[in-house]
This record gives sequence, C-alpha cells and structure tokens, in this order.
Amino acid sequence: MAVPFRMQWRMFTYVLKQRLRGNPRYPLVLMLEPLFACNLECAGCGKIQYPADILRQRLTPQQCWEAAEECGAPIVSIAGGEPLAHSEIDAIVEGFVARKKFVYLCTNAILLEKNLHRFQPSPYLIFSIHLDGTEKTHDRMVCREGVYRTAVRALRLAKEKGFYVMTNTTIFQGEDSEEFREFFETLTAMGVDGMMISPGYAYEKAPQQDIFLKRGETHSWFSKTLRDWRRKGWAFNHSPFYLDFLEGKRDYDCTPWGNPLRNLFGWQRPCYLQQEGYAKSFRELLETTDWSKYGCRSGNPKCAHCMVHVGYEPSAVADSFSTPGKFLEMVWDIVTTQRPRSKSRPAPDPSPGGRRPQKLEIAV
Ligand code: SF4
Repeated sequence: MAVPFRMQWRMFTYVLKQRLRGNPRYPLVLMLEPLFACNLECAGCGKIQYPADILRQRLTPQQCWEAAEECGAPIVSIAGGEPLAHSEIDAIVEGFVARKKFVYLCTNAILLEKNLHRFQPSPYLIFSIHLDGTEKTHDRMVCREGVYRTAVRALRLAKEKGFYVMTNTTIFQGEDSEEFREFFETLTAMGVDGMMISPGYAYEKAPQQDIFLKRGETHSWFSKTLRDWRRKGWAFNHSPFYLDFLEGKRDYDCTPWGNPLRNLFGWQRPCYLQQEGYAKSFRELLETTDWSKYGCRSGNPKCAHCMVHVGYEPSAVADSFSTPGKFLEMVWDIVTTQRPRSKSRPAPDPSPGGRRPQKLEIAV
C-alpha cells in the first residue's frame, strides 16, 4: 500500500486523537462534489442526472475550503461530475494543499494530459484515475470507446512528471475474475501508488439497473479475485480489514458519517450514496440525522446490499483501532505488503517488447 507515508501517519494520529477524546462520530474523508457536470455518461453512475441549470452550477473555491475546515477530515476526495471540468480546480487544489489537506482528485482523465501543467507534484495531491478494468471492460462501462487508452496515457504522463497516481475501480455484475487479477497485476507493474476498489452501489438513477452485485455475490467475487493479494503485493489503497470485509472474512455495519458528502445542495443525508435531504452544516448533519435508519443491519432495503468503501472503510479503520491486537495485525499487514515508491520513475512498458512483459497489453 504505497500511499505517501505522511498521509498514513496523519490518518493514524487523527484517528488516535478522536478515540482519546471519546468522539463517537468523526469523518475520515470529506467527499466533495464541486460540480455535477461530466464529459461522460457511465452505465453505473447515479450522480449526473440533473437539469441543465444545476449542471451549470459550481461550488466556489472558498465554499470547498470551508467544507474541509468545517468537518475537519484530513483527506478530501474531489469527485463530481468531472472535477477537471471546473475552471478553478487548480485553485481549489492549491488551497487544500496550502491547508495541508490530502487531496484525491478523482478524474476520468480525459482532460488530464492537457491540464497537468496547472498542478504541482506534492505529497498532498494524488490523482485518482477512474479505470473500471481492462480496455474492453472500461470502455464498455463508461459507454465510450477510446477512454481507456486516453486514461492510461495520462496516468503514465502524470507518473513521469512525479505526481502520485492511484486508480479507482468499481466492480459490477458479471465481471471476469481472472481478467481483473491480470488488471491489478498490470497496474501494480505500472507503478501506481495505490488502487481503490469497491462494488458499485445500486443507484436508483443509474442508466443500467441490472449491473449491481448483491451481498453474497460481492463476497464470492472478491474472495476469488483477491485470494492472494497480499502475496502478490498488489498496492491497494485500503485498510486490509476492508478488503477482508469484501471477501466475507469480517463483518461490519456501516459508518455513514465516516465519508460525508458536501455538494451544491449542502451536506447530503445520510451518506455519499443515498440522497435523503441536505443539512446546512456538518454539525447539523451529525446531530439531526437518525443514524439508526441506515446500515446493513438497520433493515433499510437501500442499504441491504451496499458494501461500498465510503460506508465500510471507516468501520474497518475503527475496528483496527479497537484492540491492541487488531492494531498490530493491521500494521503488520500494511508493512508486509508495502512497496517502496520510486519518485518519478516512468511506468514500465507492459508491451511484449517492453521491460516487464505482462499478459495484458496496455496500448497507448
Ligand atoms: S449502507 Fe451506509 S454507505 Fe451504504 S447506502 Fe446505506 S448508509 Fe449509505
């Protein structure tokens, strides 16, 4: 798990402080949607189905920074919509870096190559590139040919320029386990600084409704695909306990306030995925939401099959701090699967004539 060490350290000290203070509810990652507009319409996306006047709106940089200060999370994940379509995204990121917030800039990478000059490499900035599998699968899921090649080309360029680069991958119904094992091997060989994975959430507004995994299907897909990820040294950017949860080896309820969402309408209730109204402030969200109505043990049908990282990674992190034994287990897991990051090493050429041949060819 080759995330910047200082980010791991910040997260460790932050969680420790919250626990020593006896704070029962604290956020780990602020999910920020400064716009809904996007240059893609993916099959499993439930975020961009708004009228034109909403799609034209943007959060200002000041609103973005205030949201981060207000909730206090050490990490900000900027999603959308497509954040690179926001004309002030460079100023927003710069402001977060100045405040020493770690930023995941989540992008489909179509606009990344031509916008890279607007950013400076920093341990506080990580490009998180959307890749839902190999070329055939990714282009099918984003409903446009050629996007995979553009994204991989941008990924390699960002690595060459010295940026931290991760990938985020959503798993849907019917995905081929072996294809994804090769995909993770390839991304690891390319030197990505972390891979994020999650099963998709069954958004009511998603254009396709038959593509989402049920809970049992999630367990069997992940236990088959991730069966030896530790030995392989795959660079996942997750708590190892969350990956165990996906495989069905640990059982958690959701922590919906752990990755709260601020967007154009306010603080979304109860979580990043469901949309049951908005609070004006983070405090109001925490204090006026009936949290007993949410999570997989609540009986809420909208939560029944959800195993998405925004709800369950915070539960896995809290569990790893719950006893000294679990804490040591988590640290050992991270240390023994950690790969050192080479600063500005170009991603290896995975083609048959390249330095490190892989079965899966990345054409760029
Ligand atoms: S289980 Fe948690 S993260 Fe998932 S939809 Fe329900 S409240 Fe949201």
